[in-house]
Amino acid sequence: MPTSKFHAMIHSKCPKCHVGNVFEGKVYSLRKQQMNEVCPHCGVKYEVEPGYFYAAMYVSYALSVAEIVSVSVAIAILTGSESPWFYLAGLAITILIFAPFNFRYARLILLHFLTPKISYDPRYELALEIGEKDQEARANKKN
Ligand SMILES: [Zn+2]
Repeated sequence: MPTSKFHAMIHSKCPKCHVGNVFEGKVYSLRKQQMNEVCPHCGVKYEVEPGYFYAAMYVSYALSVAEIVSVSVAIAILTGSESPWFYLAGLAITILIFAPFNFRYARLILLHFLTPKISYDPRYELALEIGEKDQEARANKKN
């Protein structure tokens, strides 16, 4: 069954096949985040043109603003403080904590929702399902 665009984006899957991973490893691992140049499953090139991921800066900016506003409102409600240092500290901590998340999801949102050149092709997932069923059938025959 084809997975939704949103589900594929959350699990950092390829925007074309929804099977291959766009990134290696987890969002919050101690190793550097590594993005694949092409999809390991369908082979689509993620950087559709040179410098394409500069556009992810705008998405990252929108994500950062949403996070900072949320944290600032939370600080205002929880502490009721008017000291700017509280807010600056909250801001700095928020930016640092969310940096790896923003890096990954800005690119994923760009690839999944703002890139008309790469569109979803359900044939890759269907081919994979048929392949799995075929393997199951062969395994059942052997037993
Ligand atoms: Zn793919």
